[in-house]
Amino acid sequence: MSSINLIRSFQILDSRGNPTIMTLVRTDNNVGVASVPSGASTGSHEAFELRDKGRNFHGLGVNKAVKNVNTVINNKLKGMNVFEQEKIDYAMKELDGTKNKKRLGANAILSVSMACARCAANEKGVQLFEYLGGFHGFPTPLLNVINGGKHAGNSIAIQECMIIPDAKSFNDEIRIASEVYHELKGVILKKYGKTAVNVGDEGGFAPPVNDVEEAFRLVLKAVDNLGYGKKVSLGIDAASTEFYKKGKYDINGKKLGKAELLDYYKSLVKKYPLISIEDPFYEDDFKTTALLNKELRGKVQVVGDDLLVTSAERLHKSIGLKACSALLLKINQAGTITEANKACRTAQKAGMNVVVSHRSGETCDDFISDLCLGWHCNQIKAGAPCRGERVSKYNRLLILEQMMKK
Ligand code: PEP
Ligand code: MG
Repeated sequence: MSSINLIRSFQILDSRGNPTIMTLVRTDNNVGVASVPSGASTGSHEAFELRDKGRNFHGLGVNKAVKNVNTVINNKLKGMNVFEQEKIDYAMKELDGTKNKKRLGANAILSVSMACARCAANEKGVQLFEYLGGFHGFPTPLLNVINGGKHAGNSIAIQECMIIPDAKSFNDEIRIASEVYHELKGVILKKYGKTAVNVGDEGGFAPPVNDVEEAFRLVLKAVDNLGYGKKVSLGIDAASTEFYKKGKYDINGKKLGKAELLDYYKSLVKKYPLISIEDPFYEDDFKTTALLNKELRGKVQVVGDDLLVTSAERLHKSIGLKACSALLLKINQAGTITEANKACRTAQKAGMNVVVSHRSGETCDDFISDLCLGWHCNQIKAGAPCRGERVSKYNRLLILEQMMKK
C-alpha cells in the first residue's frame, strides 16, 4: 500500500511578499510538494484562510496553519493510502469540523490536499494531469493585461482587462498574447509616459486611467498595430463587490444602480469585442447576474467567481436561476481538491464553461495547469504573460503541448 508516512509544512512568501504555505507529503518511495495561493478580492463565502494575526508580517503569518499541518493533520493522515484523495480530504474536513475550514485553515488543508495528489501521481509514475483525469485538449487562455481594482494603484474600478487570443494551438495563443502585451507597453508608454508601464499584482499594466473603455482602446490599438483584428477578443473581471457600496456601484466617478450597471455592460458589448464578463454584480446578486446572462446569451459568457466561490451548493442555485454560463474555478475557495472537483463536475454537467484560475497572490507552483488539463476545463486565467508566478502556469502548458506534438 502507498501509505502516507510524513506530512510537513513550511512558511514561504507569495508573489506579493506575504506568507503562504508549502507542504510536502511523503510515502516510502515518493514525495509530493505543493504551495497555495492567496486572493486580494476575496469573496466572503470562500473557505477561510488562517492567518496568525499579531505583529509579524502585519498579522499575515501562517505559522498556526503550518503547525496544524505538522501536528493534527499529520497525525490523522499518517498511514492513509495516498491514492484515496476523497477519503483524505473528507478526513481533514471532519477534523476541522467547521463549515468554512476556519479551525485548521483552508490554506493548511488545501496544501495537504494538493501535495497528496502530486505524491500520488509520482507514486504511479505519471504526470499530474494524467493522474487527475488524462488529456482532452488545451484550454483557451485569458490573460490580464491591464490591472485595476484591488490589484493596482490606479483608479480603474474594473479589476481585470483580459485578452483572449484565438489560434490553432495554445503555443500560438500565448505567442499572440505576448506580442500584444509588449505592443501594449509601447502604446501606453507613448501616451502616458514611463511611470505608466509599471505593472500590478497579476503582471498587467496599471496605467493612470479610470475608465475601462480607455483600457480597451489601448489594448485594441496594440492588437490593431499587430494586425491581429478578430484573433483577439476581450474579457473583464469586474470584481464588482469591491466597488459596491450602500446599494450602488461606484464606477467611473458615478454611482450606478444595478439596472444602470447592466446597461453599461450591454453598451460595452455593443462597442467592443467583449466576450467574457466575470462577477458583473456583487457577490450575492444571482438575480441581476441571471438577467445579464439572459440578455447576452450566445454572445458573452458570464463567469461566476465571488458569486459561486467554487462551491457545488452555490452552483446549484446558479444553475436553477441560469445566472452564469461559466464557473471560475479556484481551488483555495473550496479548500480541498475533492470539493473543487465536485464544483467542476457540477458545472460541466450543466453545460457550463470552466475557467481554471490563479489568485492575485501566487507562487510558482503550476498545479492548476495540470488540473485544467486533467479535469478537461476549457479555459485558464493566470494573469499577464509576464512575471514568474504567472508564466509558470502558461509555461507548463506550453511545454506539454510541444512535447505532445513530438
Ligand atoms: C479574481 O478575482 O478573479 C482574482 C484572480 O483575484 P483575487 O485572487 O484577488 O481574488
Ligand atoms: Mg474574479
